[in-house]
Amino acid sequence: MRKTIIVGTGPAGLTAAIYLARANLNPLVIEGPEPGGQLTTTTEVENFPGFPDGIMGPELMANMRKQAERFGAEFKTGWVTEVDASKRPFTLKVEGLGELQAETLIISTGASAKYLGIPGERDNVGRGVSTCATCDGFFFRGKKIVVVGGGDSAMEEASFLTRFASEVVVVNRREELRASKIMQARARDNAKISWALGRTPLEVVADDKGVKGLKALNNATGQEELLETDGVFIAIGHTPNTKFLGGQLTTDDHGYLVVKPGTTETNVPGIFACGDVQDNRYRQAISAAGTGCMAALDAERFLEASEAFSAATV
Ligand code: NDP
Repeated sequence: MRKTIIVGTGPAGLTAAIYLARANLNPLVIEGPEPGGQLTTTTEVENFPGFPDGIMGPELMANMRKQAERFGAEFKTGWVTEVDASKRPFTLKVEGLGELQAETLIISTGASAKYLGIPGERDNVGRGVSTCATCDGFFFRGKKIVVVGGGDSAMEEASFLTRFASEVVVVNRREELRASKIMQARARDNAKISWALGRTPLEVVADDKGVKGLKALNNATGQEELLETDGVFIAIGHTPNTKFLGGQLTTDDHGYLVVKPGTTETNVPGIFACGDVQDNRYRQAISAAGTGCMAALDAERFLEASEAFSAATV
């Protein structure tokens, strides 16, 4: 049995691992299908303090992992399918690793890209539909691309894709963009980006060779339009990864784990949550790392308190 198991290896989980390893608690870190989390699918990170010239997302995550390993954190790859949070030690069922037990758990499973849920979308993932510009942009050299969304993700994806594409059209359901002013300005200044705002996506149109267009409703005219394109990149936000918890931890209306304000404590004593899985507001690498540190300290104090309690009751 472990003192602590950390589920998830984004900035939150890896920061928790660094702190717990340095506290000699020998944490086990379970790595899922996207080791390093969302930052491994991004390009340059310009706003993580300490890197005045920026750093590539994958490099930042590799460094964090190296730092955790240096102090003794152990990493195993597996897919957590179930958690029994009803009693301590907690039991995890992990595909590929069997059953594992721990006195405390740190949940840092992040959030995954959302899809629109329109016809032709899922069927054409890998055939012109993508949620990751850095992964797939290369395949669209000299082609026309549509990016769906109006937040920072969409602006970032659109700007990045202009490295490859001949033209990038941003499609957003509202006329207003949700993105920060600086990201909007960057995209608006980019001559390769054009805008189809106030359009609700209806269908990804494809033939046996791949994507041909995006059918969308022009909200102002009520007319359907076909935007011809070779690729559709969906950048409309994320869903927190909490399914494996089977509803045992309290979540908000959007599925994000709820923690006691100012802490990382969930409704189950001994289970802590950090990073994007509990943060629908900031969702930044640096804030995720900050909550990872908090979760490690919360877990450490919890273990100390329960050891003191056990000693006092022997
Ligand atoms: P956001 O929630 O900010 O934006 C989502 C966008 O997708 C909105 O324009 C929204 O429209 C649209 N949308 C959502 N659902 C649908 C749907 N079903 N159909 C059509 N459109 C839809 O998500 P982001 O991923 O862009 O950003 C999340 C957070 O991450 C933000 O805090 C952002 O600042 C941060 N971020 C920072 C970056 C950076 O600093 N480098 C890069 C990327 C993200 P509507 O506005 O109408 O709701």
